Amino acid sequence: MIQGIQEVGLYVRDQDEALAFYRDALGLHVDVPEEVASQQVRAHFIPTGQAALELLEPTADDSDIAQDVEKRGPGLHHLTLRVDDIHAALDQLKARKVRLVDEQPRRGAEGALVAFIHPSSAHGVLVELKQAAAPAVRLEVQTIAFGDLQLTALHDGPFRLDGGAMFGVVPRPLWGKKAPPDDRHRIQLAMRPLLVEAAWGRMLIDCGVGEKMSTKDRDIYALDRSRTLDDALAALRLSSESIEIALATHLHWDHFGGATERVGGALQPRFPNARYVIRAAEWEDATHPHERNRASYLQDDFVPLKKAGVTVFFDGDQQIRPGVRVVRTGGHTGQHQVVFLESGGRTAVFVADMIPTVAHLENAWVMGYDLFPMDTLAFKRRFISEAIEREYLIFFEHDPLITAGYIREKDGRRYVEQVL
Ligand SMILES: [Zn+2]
Ligand SMILES: [Zn+2]
Repeated sequence: MIQGIQEVGLYVRDQDEALAFYRDALGLHVDVPEEVASQQVRAHFIPTGQAALELLEPTADDSDIAQDVEKRGPGLHHLTLRVDDIHAALDQLKARKVRLVDEQPRRGAEGALVAFIHPSSAHGVLVELKQAAAPAVRLEVQTIAFGDLQLTALHDGPFRLDGGAMFGVVPRPLWGKKAPPDDRHRIQLAMRPLLVEAAWGRMLIDCGVGEKMSTKDRDIYALDRSRTLDDALAALRLSSESIEIALATHLHWDHFGGATERVGGALQPRFPNARYVIRAAEWEDATHPHERNRASYLQDDFVPLKKAGVTVFFDGDQQIRPGVRVVRTGGHTGQHQVVFLESGGRTAVFVADMIPTVAHLENAWVMGYDLFPMDTLAFKRRFISEAIEREYLIFFEHDPLITAGYIREKDGRRYVEQVL
């Protein structure tokens, strides 16, 4: 039930004196203070590793907290315990006749669910239970008209990958703020294949994960298959039959697992009317895996395509269809490519695993998964400056919340102006 201590809340009467001790004497880092208007309090968070200290300074003399500080003096205010299921925890406490301040959980900061236990039951300490809000994943079908092209971001359900692996050499205190990990150290990600519709037909760029994963892998990657690519296509009144071209950025399972399906005991192409367009050198690498990339290249995802005679291989950067051009980035895999979508003088780029989420905008925030991180770095250095300068609309395949936007830079800091 209890997963650990989230924070220890301390009353302080005078923030400068308190900071002189906690920040200067103890040498702890203090986050920018947060005003909680509803409780007339200013909160200073002090991360200390597993748990945080929270200095609570009253901002109005007549507030409850100010009166408490006046009466009891500064000191311990509350202890926050992290729970995975706050409703179950409250039920358990009620069954044991524990006195609760909150019979039902309330919404706290950052969408967390919180409830207080009365100090009389907790031996003099006010105990707060907190269930962190899982960051939502946007599973929507979002369309944008782009010159002669119609671009639609689809989705194939949410999944999670190891946060450390997603950020390579970047330490967790830095990435953990942008992408909070769950209790198994995984961060929330989306899978968003892009549908391109034009006079020449319908192309799907990447195919999501599909349904072939084992129960064990579904658990490891937190694959939630309640809303999938089939639902996304159905929302457009399309189906697997509607796709004429399936283009691979690369052949990792979270990008091309959905290219095949198992029917009865046999594996077959998932899109019966599609040609599967694949860079020949990526096919070579994927079909000759080594110890380092074997878990990413699952042969059942693509070998059946060649057997079925529906593959089209090509070499080098080129125009795949009018307005659709591939450019090799390398880095993530030796032959990883991004897709430029160009029409009416505008450019959109589907960046796949080169910039998997908006937390990866800094050049050096490169995934631990990347086989050739220095190549990723070199490509990002060039590409992101170009994308800012020329205002490319960037489609983020894995970002949980931002589907597409423009990369901007202000005072040396990069951010995304969200469009979808
Ligand atoms: Zn990949
Ligand atoms: Zn990926």
